[in-house]
Order: sequence, then C-alpha cells, then structure tokens
Amino acid sequence: MIQLYIPLNFLGVLYREIKQSLADMEKLFTLLDQNKEIADKENAPVLQLHGHASPDVEFHQVNFSYEEKRQILFDVDFKIAAGTTTAVVGHSGSGKSTLSRLLFRFYDIQSGSIQIAGQNIMDINQHSLRQAIGIVPQDTVLFNDTIGYNIAYGQPGATHEEVVAVAKAAYIHDFIESLPDGYDTMVGERGLKLSGGEKQRVAIARTLLKNPVVMIFDEATSALDSKSEQMIQAQLKQIAKSRTSLVIAHRLSTIVDAQQILVMDKGRIIERGTHPELMAMAGAYSQMWERQQHHGDGSLSADDA
Ligand code: ADP
Ligand code: MG
Repeated sequence: MIQLYIPLNFLGVLYREIKQSLADMEKLFTLLDQNKEIADKENAPVLQLHGHASPDVEFHQVNFSYEEKRQILFDVDFKIAAGTTTAVVGHSGSGKSTLSRLLFRFYDIQSGSIQIAGQNIMDINQHSLRQAIGIVPQDTVLFNDTIGYNIAYGQPGATHEEVVAVAKAAYIHDFIESLPDGYDTMVGERGLKLSGGEKQRVAIARTLLKNPVVMIFDEATSALDSKSEQMIQAQLKQIAKSRTSLVIAHRLSTIVDAQQILVMDKGRIIERGTHPELMAMAGAYSQMWERQQHHGDGSLSADDA
C-alpha cells in the first residue's frame, strides 16, 4: 500500500510515472480519487449507460499535445460501435497508447471531443468514467503484497470465491495453487517475480473482477511464447465479447477478426477497415502484414512495436 504520509511532491512524481506507464493508475486514483490537473466540473453528472450493457465510444476530430509545440494527435476521428472491437496498429511512437490515456482522461485534449454513450468525457464525473473502463496495460506492475490482493485490488469487497473464479477464467488459478502459499504468496519486487505472461494474466483477472463495460488492452511487446500468447488471446476474446473494446496490437495475427482496424502513423489515422479491406488496399497495413509473415512468429520487428 502507498503510505498516505509520503510527501506530496513524491506523489506528484509517482503520479506522472504511473500516468505514463498506464500501470497501476487505477490504484492511484482509488487512493486519491482526484487528479489535480484534470478537474471535474462542478456537479459533473455520472456517466449514464441508459441500460445498455456496453456503450459506444467516439473520438471526434481529436487534436492533442502533451506539451506545447509538439502535437501528438492530429484530427483523430473514429467510432467504436457498442459491443465491438477496434484494433489500433502502427509504429512505435505513432500515438496508440496516447489514445488509451485520453479515453481514461489522464489528459484533456486541445480540440475535438471524446464521447462515451454520447456523453463528453470532460463533462462527466471522472470516478464514474474510470469505473466504466478496464485496462490491461502493456506492462503490469504488481504491488508488494499477496497475489490474491493483487487480483482483488480495486474491488475491496471481493470475496475469495470471486477472486478464485476470475483467476480460473484468466487461467492463472492452477499456477497460484502450485505456489507454496497459494493465494497468500507474496509477489512483486520484494516477493515472487512473475513472468510477463503471468503478470498479464493477473491483470486480466483483475479486469474480469472489475467487469467494466469498456475494455482497453495494450498488448505487451515483450516476447511471450506463442502458446501463452494464444491462451491470452483466447481469454481476451472472451472478455471482449459483448464489450466495447480498444485493442492496441503488435501482432497483426491477433486482430484479424476485429470489426475495425485503425492504422496510425505519426499521430494520424492513415488507413482504416477490416483486415480483408485493408489487405485489398495494398497499402501500409498490407505491407506490415507481409513483413510480419517473414518474421515467422507474426510479431513486428523491434522498431515497429
Ligand atoms: P505508441 O503507443 O504508439 O508507441 P505513444 O502514444 O506512447 O506511442 O506516444 C506517442 C508520442 O507521444 C511519442 O512521440 C512519445 O514520445 C510522445 N509522448 C508520450 N508520452 C509523453 C509525455 N508524457 N510527454 C511528452 N511526450 C510524450
Ligand atoms: Mg504504446
């Protein structure tokens, strides 16, 4: 647990780091439940889902820069229909992870709008926005606590049975049972180190417990072996089913079924469509696809990830 007496300037540093990595941001917001840079409007209403299980998500003409003078996103415009999956691909630094940071409202945009179920995220209560969104980040940081705590984190009321159920669904239960202290095994920097794939499964279990209506998955670049990769992909398809999902993908082979694929380059969407449509265009996407076939493992080369 973060000790609440740590100096505020340290919290500031921590906050920036967390914001950057996307890891653990939900922890910080749950603890502080405020963000000095992004303020709620007075009496901001909570996000209304109007009884729909999953809302649509829309980026409308979004322009964004982290700092003056260097624009990162240019007129980014797309819609994820309720309950469907949109995948985003593109070279490193093209702005993919920035999309997820903006949807979670870590930063406010300079122009345009981002809407969930027709409501501008700048107008709604931040807590309700973040409750609606689950993120499996690129790199999951575990807390120095038990693996059970790490799964339940963010849902303090969760029972052990619920934790076990989501661990089973994320295919990590058997692994946990094989540990000396089971769910009470200490993990993190000062405990048992988990592999990238295991950490990601913890993050998936955590997200299942949260049961959000919108899912963001920032696919890990670290080379998972292809069997773990396939298992994780199968799990994600399950989670994504009937939820509105944004998947940032590095292996194109994992997103061929997405209802929409966006190809980003230097902060702009340069191509969009389904996998067959993009292949027929014979443009940037089909070139990336061809290149990945030559790599054999279906992954992008390091400078593409
Ligand atoms: P991707 O996920 O496609 O690799 P990102 O969305 O992480 O790319 O980054 C897009 C661009 O924004 C990069 O040029 C990156 O250097 C820049 N960037 C990311 N975070 C920050 C930040 N906190 N401050 C300034 N620039 C940033
Ligand atoms: Mg990224």
